[in-house]
Amino acid sequence: MNFPEGNDAEEVIRKLNDLAKNDFDPHSKRMWGHIYYAGLKDVVELARKAYLMYMDKTMLDFTCFPSLLRMEKEVVRMTASLLHGDEETVGNFTYGGTESIMLAMKAAREKFRKEKGKDVVPEVVLPATAHPAFWKSAEYLGMRCLRAKLDDELRADVESVKELVNEKTAMIVGSAPNYPFGVVDDVSSLADVANDQKVWLHVDACLGGFHLPFFRELGEKIPDFDFSVEGVHSISADFHKYGLSPRGASVVLYRNAKLREGQIFVMASWPGYPLVNTAVLSTRSAGTLAATWAVMNYLGFDGYLRLAEKTLYAKKRLIEGLRELSLDLIGKPEGAVMAFSSDKHNLFKVSTLMAEKGWYVQSQPGSKALGFPRSLHFSVIPAHAEVVDEFIKDMEEVLPKTVGSYPDVSAFDLSELKFGEDGLPEDSELISELIHSMPPEVVESVFRYVINELIFR
Ligand SMILES: *Cc1c(COP(=O)(O)O)cnc(C)c1O
Repeated sequence: MNFPEGNDAEEVIRKLNDLAKNDFDPHSKRMWGHIYYAGLKDVVELARKAYLMYMDKTMLDFTCFPSLLRMEKEVVRMTASLLHGDEETVGNFTYGGTESIMLAMKAAREKFRKEKGKDVVPEVVLPATAHPAFWKSAEYLGMRCLRAKLDDELRADVESVKELVNEKTAMIVGSAPNYPFGVVDDVSSLADVANDQKVWLHVDACLGGFHLPFFRELGEKIPDFDFSVEGVHSISADFHKYGLSPRGASVVLYRNAKLREGQIFVMASWPGYPLVNTAVLSTRSAGTLAATWAVMNYLGFDGYLRLAEKTLYAKKRLIEGLRELSLDLIGKPEGAVMAFSSDKHNLFKVSTLMAEKGWYVQSQPGSKALGFPRSLHFSVIPAHAEVVDEFIKDMEEVLPKTVGSYPDVSAFDLSELKFGEDGLPEDSELISELIHSMPPEVVESVFRYVINELIFR
């Protein structure tokens, strides 16, 4: 494709519409992963209006746009008050959970270096269920992740964490909840280890930050996971998940400003303006910040509470319905996300057949080598309250067609991979089973090759 000649605006929009023909509709209420939709048109409209009002302003330089500083401080304060922070609590708006996590890890690394010098590779002790963003950040920051075992309830095994912590440990991680199973780690016990060993404890509440407090308010038993636990140094929480704002919105919080020091980047030794960054990204639209501020102010505590009520209803209905269909709920998820396994059905086939009915159900291939089961993931959102019964009915129809085993991949050859018109591999069931069966290091190197050489070209 050559550089375009230029088109009229209508033509460009027509093409954009055309491009979307194979996409899922994020507002269809039919996606059980990736999409966090309240199911309320007014929320979306408000967010869009706020986004457009601030789209062209950059968060790079708040001296030009003081409103952005004000909004950032306010969304930080609102979140801090929800997560039992106090006037000492500080934080910053970021463009996503990964960025929030990376910043907290950088802050912890700088503190570690100050205390222990630069010769040691700082280590991060995390449960096997922790998000890959920690592994990614460690790769970027020259740190090393150590995977702790899970206990019978799929929480971080505190004994295993204790065994891995030593003088090289820069951070301990707990999730509230984790993504694969929706289980909240025992943050209080992790804090005991952290306090004992004087180590930084980060709580990843990317998923739970904006629904666990409301679930608790609704009477659910939610273990303490936030700044109410002495020893929690930092928390990540995503607005663009259960905060219900548009993509590109998260926050990282610290118990006090001293802990944040290492997060901030300043560079004054070039001929240009002094560059000051509180985030990884520098120039970025203020649209997502304004939309977040708007949605939070619009919904308020009661609005989020009402939406959490819908989520909770859909969660309970889903668990009840899928159990009746003899799928097995994994662990005891406190949060709004969960996974089901089965020793009777080919779960990857369930995803395929449900996609034919317009549902997005995410396969979690797990790993034979690591002992992680194959499962189906569900991120339940308020919008699902209206469609959960229809979904269960469709599952009831599909499940009998999926009884049986997984394809044999022992003799599979990469050159057999087929690609569709969008340039994506076609047989997702086969791919999921390959991921399950191959050692994770092999999966990772094959992916790197396929992404680099085949998909993005
Ligand atoms: C989504 C998620 C992240 C990473 O967030 P991104 O916004 O995708 O960068 C981290 N931790 C958990 C538990 C998550 O669910």
